[in-house]
Amino acid sequence: MKMRRGSEISTFQACRRKWKYEWIDNLVLIRPSTPKFFGTVMHKFIQVLNETRDWDNAFATGEELMREKGKELDPATYQELAELYATLTIDYHKMWDDSKRKTLFTELTFRVRITDTYPTDDWYTGTVDHIFLDEHGMLWIEDHKNVKRMDSYITAAQNDAQITRYLGAVTLLLNGQGEILVNGKWEPFTGGNNRIEGLVYNLLSKSPAHPPKKLSKGGLSVDKSQRTTFALYIEALKEHGLFGNIQPDPEHEGHYLIPSDHPYHDFLVMLSEQEGPDGNRFFKRIKARRTPQELQTAFNEMEDIFDDMDRAEREQRFYRNPTHNCNTCDMRHLCFAEASGENATYIRQTMYMTNPDRVEDDEDADTESS
Ligand code: SF4
Repeated sequence: MKMRRGSEISTFQACRRKWKYEWIDNLVLIRPSTPKFFGTVMHKFIQVLNETRDWDNAFATGEELMREKGKELDPATYQELAELYATLTIDYHKMWDDSKRKTLFTELTFRVRITDTYPTDDWYTGTVDHIFLDEHGMLWIEDHKNVKRMDSYITAAQNDAQITRYLGAVTLLLNGQGEILVNGKWEPFTGGNNRIEGLVYNLLSKSPAHPPKKLSKGGLSVDKSQRTTFALYIEALKEHGLFGNIQPDPEHEGHYLIPSDHPYHDFLVMLSEQEGPDGNRFFKRIKARRTPQELQTAFNEMEDIFDDMDRAEREQRFYRNPTHNCNTCDMRHLCFAEASGENATYIRQTMYMTNPDRVEDDEDADTESS
């Protein structure tokens, strides 16, 4: 019996060599450039926040996990991460008012058979970060992602196969055709015959927003590349006595009417255009929907993918797929050494180790497509 996770399938489709390193040899970098556990810590914070709506509790739980996971980091790196954690969690909480959402499940690990007719005992498995009802009573699943860039997720929401498979699996699960992991054991899920509206990518930028730069000659910077938000800019204008004749918009709470002759009018308009009900440059929620036919097609295709994975393993065919994604692939040192005839054994022994906790970290290490 095999259990294939969504991220494993995506890795296989992107590069079979990477799949071999990560999912068969089970390798991870000994010293990744960014501690992978940070995504796990942010997941934990959001999980507890969704379960309790208590920021203090959620913050403390994430902080404790960070202390435990980060004990081998040098003090300066740990301090930097701790500050990032504090900033991101405060900003996240300010950004979203989730009081109208009703959380049904968090971190639900499931498995489903891909089709009734598929002859082997392979399962498709994954962990749903969050299942909730929105303010209209619609059922959504949510996937939290700590990302460097949001653009690829906006595109992925339209057609990404991993989302389609994921939605298909949870649809089966909620219709009583799957199992969930309870205290380490698989148990039938009775479901509830609910129709899923879609998936929400809950995106969090890895680098937080900052107040705008203050210029030495006076005033605030209007450099478009600075990482700030409309709200931070408004706060800074107030703080530095530059608010002028801006008025609160009586019809929209938290919005402002900016006179066209205000010296910062154009910049504020530019910032406001980057923001909306689905978020800003730092936090965004992207909705993805799929038709029942798309879900069915994705599961039919999964039969072929599973067959290809079995065959690749049986025949030991793990060819590479070098693309621009190699730049961010953790396996590139080993892959390039093998391809160029360098001492790959040495690279493997000195730079990689066996992944100690694949299942736990997989969900969160997979925060960037590569
Ligand atoms: S470096 Fe590129 S070709 Fe090599 S394993 Fe990674 S993604 Fe594949």
